[in-house]
Amino acid sequence: MLFRTHVLFGVLVWFILDRFVEMPGFVLGFVLLGSVFVDVDSLKSKVGKRLWFVAWFLRHRGFLHSLVGCLVLSSVVGLFNLWAGFGFFIGYVSHLVLDCFTCMGLKVFWPFGFRVRGFIRSGSWVEDVLFVLVLLLDVWLVFNSLF
Ligand SMILES: [Zn+2]
Repeated sequence: MLFRTHVLFGVLVWFILDRFVEMPGFVLGFVLLGSVFVDVDSLKSKVGKRLWFVAWFLRHRGFLHSLVGCLVLSSVVGLFNLWAGFGFFIGYVSHLVLDCFTCMGLKVFWPFGFRVRGFIRSGSWVEDVLFVLVLLLDVWLVFNSLF
């Protein structure tokens, strides 16, 4: 999935969760960080291009695109601040969920080889439709929370 889809989906997940859990405002920043950071293992991603030295050492959709990676990195962030770790975890999971719907899929239970795959090609018209739907939901939730 593309950067923009991950960002909007992270926002959507935060909006839904915010209705059930009272969170400090800065948590949204860590949700966004978690939702885009995961692709640091790809030199084609926006984050991977900026932090190219990380992508040299990690295989795309390997450790970082797994629940193990999610738990390890979210715990590290959580050592500094529990809410930050929680937000990072939520964003991270939202990224993994979306990537599970792609044709390439994910080894969610890495190091085990079982791969979860979907039917969406990254950057395809199907992702564009998903992007617009998530965007509309985000806009609706913003207006709903304001009025
Ligand atoms: Zn990804």
